[in-house]
Amino acid sequence: MQVNPAHNFVEGKQSPTKERINVVSPIDGQVFTEISASRAEDIDMAVASARQAFTDGRWRRMAPSKRRDVMNRWAQLIEAEALPLAVLGVRDNGTEIGMALKAEPGSAAQTIRYYAEAIDKVGGEVIPTTEDKLCLVHREPLGVVAALVPWNFPMMIGAWKIAPAIAMGNSVVLKPSESASLTLIRMAELAVEAGLPPGVLNVVTGHGHEAGAALAGHMDVDALLFTGSGGTGRHLLTASAASNMKPVYLELGGKSPNIVFADTPDLDVAAKAAVGAIFRNSGQTCVAGARLIVASSIKDQLLERIVSIAEALKIGDPLDPANDVGAVHSEAQLALNLSHVEKAKSSGATLVTGGHALHAEGFYMAPTVFDTVAPTDALFREEVFGPVLTVTSFETEEEALALANASDLGLAAGVWTSDLSRAHRMVRDIQAGVVHVNTYGGTDHTIPMGGVKQSGYGYDRSLRAVDQVTHMKSALIAL
Ligand code: NAD
Repeated sequence: MQVNPAHNFVEGKQSPTKERINVVSPIDGQVFTEISASRAEDIDMAVASARQAFTDGRWRRMAPSKRRDVMNRWAQLIEAEALPLAVLGVRDNGTEIGMALKAEPGSAAQTIRYYAEAIDKVGGEVIPTTEDKLCLVHREPLGVVAALVPWNFPMMIGAWKIAPAIAMGNSVVLKPSESASLTLIRMAELAVEAGLPPGVLNVVTGHGHEAGAALAGHMDVDALLFTGSGGTGRHLLTASAASNMKPVYLELGGKSPNIVFADTPDLDVAAKAAVGAIFRNSGQTCVAGARLIVASSIKDQLLERIVSIAEALKIGDPLDPANDVGAVHSEAQLALNLSHVEKAKSSGATLVTGGHALHAEGFYMAPTVFDTVAPTDALFREEVFGPVLTVTSFETEEEALALANASDLGLAAGVWTSDLSRAHRMVRDIQAGVVHVNTYGGTDHTIPMGGVKQSGYGYDRSLRAVDQVTHMKSALIAL
C-alpha cells in the first residue's frame, strides 16, 4: 500500500523540495512513498525559520506553564495516533510492531511529558559570592539546535533530543535518517497542532552526506545533537571545527559484552535474556548484547539453550504480531551483515546457527551465533548492527573483565552472577555507559543514556540532557 509523499516541515507547513528520494519498505523491498531530498538551500530555509522563531521569542518567552501545556497536549496527540504512527514507522524501518508501539509513540509521548514537567522546575541559581554584589546565574537556551538521528527508533531517539531542547526554549531543526523520516514529520505536524509556534520545530529530510552535512557545517546552528554511527560522528566533529565550532554531542554505536558467570542465578533466564539482547529488532539496537562472554564450565549448557530459543524465533512481516522478529532495515544493511558472516567464517570462528538471509521478499536474516570468537577477530570488535552473536569463553573474573573491556566501544554491558560483591566489582570496572546485572535492557527516559570511549560522550534522557541544550549566563549586580 502506497503512502502519500512526504515533504520537509518548515515554519509549520510542508515545504516541498526539487529533489526526492524513494522510500523502500524492508517488509517487502518495495517503494511505498517518497520524501524530500534537501539540499543546502533547503537547510538554509529551515535554519532561518528556527532562528527567526528563536529571535522573536514566540516560544521561549511564552509563560512556562503555557509551554508545559503545549508539550503535554503534543504528547496526548501522539498517543491518540499511536497505532497509525507505529504502523507507519514499521513500514519504514521494519521493527516488530509490538516493540514499535511501545518504544516509538509510547516512549516519545512519555519523554515529551517528562521534559514538559521540567519547564517550570529547572532554572538558574543565586550564588552566595563576593561582598556587595549579587550573582544571578541564568539558565538560557542555546538558540538553534540541530538534531540528527538514526533509522532505529526514530521517534524515541528523536524525542530524547527534541523534547529537552524545545522544553528549554530552543528552536530545533531535526534531520531524520533518509530511511526513517515519516513518523518524525508527522510528530512535528502534531506539535504545531498542539500549539507549538511554527518555526520552533522544523524537519528536513535527505541524504546524510548532503542534507546532514549542510546542517552540521551551518554557521547559524548553535549545537549538534547526534545519534548514529561513529563514522558520521567524526564527520560532525570535523564540520564543527571547520565552521563555527558548535558543540557536538555524540551518541554512537556499541559492541556490548554480556557476561555470564557460572553462578548465574538461573541459566534459563540468562539464556532468554541473551537472545532478547541481541536478536530483538534484528540486532538493530545500539545497546545490543552482541558479545556473549561466558564461563567455560557452563558454556555448552548456555549455548544449547540460546540456540534452541533463537532457532524457534519466528522471523517475518513485522506488522504481523505473531512474528517475534521483524526485518533488517535495508538491503544494504542485510548485505553488510552477511559480509560480516563471511569474514567471521574465514577467521576461524565456528558458525553454530544462522548466517543467512530469509524469505524471498524483503530483508530478513536468521539469528546467527558464532562460537570460539577470539578477541582479535574483527567480529569481536566491529559493530555489525545486525542479528549476530559472538561467543567467547573465560576461566577467571579478571579474564572476563579484560574481554569485556577489549573494545574501542563502551555503550552497555550485562553481568549475570549471584555474587553481590562481584556484581559491584563488575559495575565499577566495566567501561560502559550502563551495566545491567541479572537483566538486560529496559531502561527509559528517566535514566541518563550515554557511552564511554568511542561510543560517544553526550547524555540523552533524564535531567542531564537539559545541560546540553542550555548554557549558564551569570549576572553580577552591584548592591
Ligand atoms: P548514521 O551515522 O549512518 O546516520 C545517522 C544520521 O546521520 C542520519 O540522519 C544520517 O542521514 C546522518 N548522516 C549520515 N552521514 C552524514 C554526514 N556525512 N553528515 C551529516 N549527517 C550525516 O547511522 P545509522 O545507520 O542511521 O544508525 C545506526 C548507528 O546508530 C549504529 O552505529 C548504532 O549503534 C547507532 N545508534 C546509537 C544509539 C545510542 O544511543 N548510542 C542509538 C541508536 C543507534
